[in-house]
Amino acid sequence: MNMKEQVKNRKIYLFTPGPTPIPPQVLERMNQPIIHHRSDEFREIMGRVNSNLQYLFQTKQPVLTLSSSGTGAMESTFVNLFSPGEKIIAVNNGKFGERWVKMPQEFGLNVVELKYNWGDAPSIGDIQTALKQKPDVRAVYLVHCETSSGTYTDIKSIAEVIHRESDALVCVDGVCSVGGMELRFDEWKLDVCVTSSQKGLMIPPGLAFVTMSERAIERMKDSKLPKYYFDLGKSLDVYKTNDTPWTPAISLVQGLDAALEMIKEEGIESRWKTHNENAEFVRSQVKLLGLKLFSSFPSDAVTTVEFPQGVESKKFHQILRDDYGIYFAKGQSQYMEKIFRIAHIGFHEKNEFQIAMHGLEKVLI
Ligand SMILES: *Cc1c(COP(=O)(O)O)cnc(C)c1O
Repeated sequence: MNMKEQVKNRKIYLFTPGPTPIPPQVLERMNQPIIHHRSDEFREIMGRVNSNLQYLFQTKQPVLTLSSSGTGAMESTFVNLFSPGEKIIAVNNGKFGERWVKMPQEFGLNVVELKYNWGDAPSIGDIQTALKQKPDVRAVYLVHCETSSGTYTDIKSIAEVIHRESDALVCVDGVCSVGGMELRFDEWKLDVCVTSSQKGLMIPPGLAFVTMSERAIERMKDSKLPKYYFDLGKSLDVYKTNDTPWTPAISLVQGLDAALEMIKEEGIESRWKTHNENAEFVRSQVKLLGLKLFSSFPSDAVTTVEFPQGVESKKFHQILRDDYGIYFAKGQSQYMEKIFRIAHIGFHEKNEFQIAMHGLEKVLI
C-alpha cells in the first residue's frame, strides 16, 4: 500500500517532529476561498494572528510572520542583526545546533562553536567560560529543543548567565518547542526566538516566525549584511497596519488563525502541561518495554529512543506504518538507524500515545 492510499483509506498516526497532525478546524479554515491580502478582511485576520502570536511567545514584542520554513527565519536573524566578521557563540549539540554554526559561517560571521555530543545539553559553566574568554561576543545561539536528539536546554537559566556576563543577544531556536514547551520570551529576557508552522502550531509547513527584543531591534540599525526578502525592517514597518511586505501564504495564515484560537482557548500553560504528561507517559512506557532513552536531558516535545540490539530500523518502521498506521521518525545523520523519535508536538489526543505505545510493544514482539 502506498502513502496516498493509506492517507485516503485509513487513519494514520503521525508522531514525526514536523510535520505534525493538523486539527479538522484548521483544515477547514484553509479550505475557505482565497482572499486578497491587501484587504480589510485579511488585515483583520492578521491583526488577530499578530496578537495571538504574542500570547504564544509570551511577549509584548511584535512577532513577525514570514512565508518560509523555519530555516528562513533562522537566516533572517543573521542577515538583520550582524555584520561580517562579528563574533557569535553557537551551541551545537545536534543537527539544528550544527545549522546555527554553518549558516552564520556562510554569512562571514566569526563563529565560536561550543560542541557537545548528541543527547547532551550545554552546561551553564561552559557558556560562562566562553563568554569570559571572548568578551566581544555579540550573540549566543541556542536550541531550546534539539529535535535530532530530543534534548532539552535550560534556556531560562542560561539567558540569566549570558546577561550577567555580557551584552550578547540571547538567540533561541524554538522551532520544536514553541507551543509545546514552556517558553516565556519577555520574562526570560530572550532577545531573538524563531519558530515555524509545522511543529507545535498544528498547521502545515510554510510559515515561520521571529520575535525580537527592543535591544535586538536596535542592533538591526548597525547590520551591514545584505538582505532583501528577509529584511525584517520591512516587516516591522508594516506590522502596525497588519500587513506583510510580500504576498503572505494566505491560506496558511487562515489556518494559523484557527490554530492559534484553539491554543488560546485551551491556554498555553495547559498545553505545556499536556505535552509534559504525554512525554512522561511515553518515556515511562519506553522504559517499561526495556528500551533506553537516547537523550540525557529528554525534552517534552520529542522523545528519542535507542534501537534495541537486533532490531532493524527499516523493518521496524515498515511494520509500524503498514500494520498500525503509526509513523515514528528515524534518527538523523549518524544516528539515522541508531535511534527512533516519537514527537509529542502537534494535534494529538492523549489516547493516541497509548496507541503508539501499543504499536511499539507489538512491533518489538
Ligand atoms: C524543524 C526544525 C527547524 C527548521 O526546519 P525547517 O525544515 O526549515 O522548518 C529548525 N530547528 C529545529 C530545532 C527544528 O526542529
